[in-house]
Formats: sequence, structure tokens, C-alpha cells
Amino acid sequence: MIQEIADGVFVDLDYEGANVGCILTDEGAIVIDSPMIPTEAKHWAETVSKLSSRVLYVFNTDHHRAHILGNQFFDAPILAHEVAWKEMSNYKDTFIERTKNLFKKRPDVQKQLDDIDIIKPELAFTGRLLMNRGGREIHFIHMGGHTPATSGVFLPEEKILFTGDLVVVNEHPALGQCDSEEWLTKLRWLRKQKYAMIVPGHGPLCNVEASEPVSDYIRSMRAKVRKQFKAGRTKAEAAVVISQMIDYFPYRQGEKSMIEKRIRAGVSRVYDEMKLFYGQEEV
Ligand SMILES: [Zn+2]
Repeated sequence: MIQEIADGVFVDLDYEGANVGCILTDEGAIVIDSPMIPTEAKHWAETVSKLSSRVLYVFNTDHHRAHILGNQFFDAPILAHEVAWKEMSNYKDTFIERTKNLFKKRPDVQKQLDDIDIIKPELAFTGRLLMNRGGREIHFIHMGGHTPATSGVFLPEEKILFTGDLVVVNEHPALGQCDSEEWLTKLRWLRKQKYAMIVPGHGPLCNVEASEPVSDYIRSMRAKVRKQFKAGRTKAEAAVVISQMIDYFPYRQGEKSMIEKRIRAGVSRVYDEMKLFYGQEEV
């Protein structure tokens, strides 16, 4: 269900996958992320078309499927961080196949995904992009942490920040492509900011304090993986961490294996970080 969180600023938190947003200007709309299930992406595009006759840009907060798969339903250029552009340029047909595998129990969704094209960014930025358009000031800000591409959208007037997956609420953050130290640093920075509202990548609207459980989770993952690494365990052996982390956040019935996969990718990533930091020969 769409909700207006400030004058002309809309979010929908109910689609499968990531949260989406829409910022209206006098010249058209800026859309933030697109749902991954095609019927939902179409629904989102229709909803936006009722709010504005024109979409100026679709902004992807990162290159993960939950944020980008619905891009093709908008007649507008895609804008994202340079790394998202590079990642999306490298997506092959296997990317759609792997997406279909996530919907094994939903053949209707699998069928819809047959017609999906990956629409990659036409415009990419690195540090910070300021846009003054149609009477609205919008900042696109690189955040990193979750992925090298992760970027947010800041509205200085309303003091609203869309964080992308830098902040997720009440669900397991995905550490598979993260820089865990950078992520912790960014979250510490975030908690010093005076934002009126945060739109997280997943989960309900929140404030900066909601980023604390994400920091806790990352710290815990780092400590557990470090312990395994220092004990001389291999990456495969370090997978015991999965069962130690699985109950950290709730997950929906039937999603356990998907969450375990997500944690496994995080363990692998953090293990590599430890290896880089401590050096292999010390163990
Ligand atoms: Zn992501």
C-alpha cells in the first residue's frame, strides 16, 4: 500500500523484496528502486503514473535483484552508482535463472520472469550527485558497506533518507558483497545524523537508532567468523556460524534455506576479509 511520508514523497513497503519510493517534482517523478516480481513492478509503475505523467529517472540503490528487476516497466533512464552499473552490465541469463530458482514454489512468478530484461543504468555516479529539478533538491549519496554500490537518496528539505540496504529492519542483512568494517563505520556516522525519517532498504520506516541491530549483527558475524578463522578452521568449517546466526532476526516460514544461503554468503565474505586482514600464514 502506498503511503505519503512527506509532501509529494511516497513509499510502498509491501512489495516482495525491497522498499520502493517515489519523489514528485514539478517536472516529473524520481522513482527509487523497482519491485522484482513483474506483476508487482507493473503495479508500481501504474501507481507512479497516477501520481505523475512523467518519470524523470529510476534510481537503483544497488544492483541486487530486489531493487532492479522491475526497471523495464518504467519509460525512464536508470541512475545508479558506477559499481551497480558495472555489476548489472555483467549479469548473464543465469542471473534470471537463479532468480527463478528463488521462486520454485511459485511457477506463476517463474513464468513472468521469462520476459524480464535487465535494464542497466544509463547514468552512473561515484561519490555524490546533487539534483535540482522541478523545485526539489535531491541528493544521491554513495554509502557503501552493504555493497560497493550501495547508495541512498537524501531530501535535505524534509530530512528524509532512503538508505538502500545499508539499513534493513527486522531481517537478516545480506553480507555477501559487503565491506563489513566500512558498513559499521557508515552506520556509526548515520547515528550521528539528525534525520527526521529513514526509509530502510527492507522493513518498516524508522529512525537512525534502528540501524543499531544491523551494527550488532555485523559485529557478531565478524566476531564469530574471526573465532573460526583464528582457530584454523577452513571456510567450509566456518559454516557452523550459520546456525549461530539464523535466529538473530525472524524469517518467514519456508524462507529458512534462503536465509541460510544469505548467511553462508556473509560468512564466506567475512572469512575472506579476515584472511586479508590477518594473513593466511599466521594461522
Ligand atoms: Zn542489496
